[in-house]
Amino acid sequence: MEQTEDTTPVEETVTLTAADRCDVCGAQAFIRVVLATGDLVFCGHHGSENKDKLSPIAISWQDETSKLS
Ligand SMILES: [Zn+2]
Repeated sequence: MEQTEDTTPVEETVTLTAADRCDVCGAQAFIRVVLATGDLVFCGHHGSENKDKLSPIAISWQDETSKLS
């Protein structure tokens, strides 16, 4: 068993699909951010744009931009 850090709740990883759309621009989302207040999804562009702002408060940061290449 791997030890999980207390600050990181176990979240079920949901793969992003073409139906997931960036909350900012509506493009296909490749980044899912789990916040205490809910989930946000972003395209690669807006994910990196918001990363500095959101990553310190994000519970989890799921980045599937590698699918783009
Ligand atoms: Zn976007």
